[in-house]
Amino acid sequence: ALSVGIVGLPNVGKSTLFNAITKAGAEAANYPFCTIDPNVGVVEVPDERLQKLTEIVIPNRVVPTAFEFVDIAGLVEGASRGEGLGNKFLGHIREVNAIAHVVRCFEDSNITHVSGGVNPLSDIETINLELIFADLESVDKRLDRSRKGAKSGDKKVQEEVAVLGRLKEALENGKAARSVELSDEETLIVRDLHLLTIKPMLYVANVAEDEVANTEENDLVKKVREFAASEGAEVVVISAKVESEIAELEGEDKQMFLEELGLQESGLDRLIKSAYKLLGLITYFTAGVQEVRAWTINRGTKAPGAAGVIHTDFEKGFIRAETVAYDDLVHYGSMNAAKEAGKVRLEGKEYIVNDGDVMHFRFNV
Ligand code: GDP
Repeated sequence: ALSVGIVGLPNVGKSTLFNAITKAGAEAANYPFCTIDPNVGVVEVPDERLQKLTEIVIPNRVVPTAFEFVDIAGLVEGASRGEGLGNKFLGHIREVNAIAHVVRCFEDSNITHVSGGVNPLSDIETINLELIFADLESVDKRLDRSRKGAKSGDKKVQEEVAVLGRLKEALENGKAARSVELSDEETLIVRDLHLLTIKPMLYVANVAEDEVANTEENDLVKKVREFAASEGAEVVVISAKVESEIAELEGEDKQMFLEELGLQESGLDRLIKSAYKLLGLITYFTAGVQEVRAWTINRGTKAPGAAGVIHTDFEKGFIRAETVAYDDLVHYGSMNAAKEAGKVRLEGKEYIVNDGDVMHFRFNV
């Protein structure tokens, strides 16, 4: 399953956030593909469209799509040199698809900060440098090996040396590997290096409980926003403490509590949506009377691949997909009305699925 790793220095609020995630947690039975592990929390992706589809189809049950957050505690300064349990944690980061980097933007004299004062930019730098050092080591190792091969004049190897050289230069300048623009071919060349800083990253600014409604005024948050903008990264502002309280509530109670705080949506829901986007994912739906369900695919996936997310047999035996755009279905109000209006298409194997497509697969068994 797809996963987002939560990293950050000690005492920034990672465990508090992770606890909120597991408390808000998804019904595991619905997601057999998800990992059962105390460090993994399954979250459902909030999607207003499911509510509308439910009103149209009136199914027996509704299942949102989900992905995993992984709690990667223990990353400290010196991790890339093997300090603490450094390398082990870096190994965990290798396994996730994207990174949520939590930074502390709350003042609290009772909670010590590992480096003395609250300074989100230096926190960001500390963690990012550890990841960069680890990548530099991987690139150097491979570069050594490739250079030996390059003498033979093999064009493939020369290409490899060239792209590794560019990565090395960026890393040595303190830049993440993701800042280097790579062609599809080059991406393939470096893929098995499993670089940490090539993974997409977003920042989670953890603010004090009484500041969630008014984050524009927070200077620490401002600094994080500026820095993130320079990297083209997103920032999600939350209060981990508030989130752990929200996660205890449901339905109307939750809505009331959010209103009291002056929020429309929980920070966790915003984080989940941002992380989903960061992973490059889109959603398509199946909508039958048994079940209305959201499914996750990578942008650009063709119809048989999308069917394969439900079951490999759907992909193997794929014939066609009856497809209607979500907006059309809602506009016409029922599958039959959409059909009469000619909005339901029969799509074949080359069809690239769009976000919001409502699909019914026909396949051979
Ligand atoms: P971790 O080491 O990054 O996992 O940090 P923790 O989640 O254990 O948090 C460290 C301390 O900061 C704990 O005492 C938390 O209760 C506290 N903390 C976390 N988030 C907030 C917050 O939003 N406001 C305040 N005041 N304290 C927080």
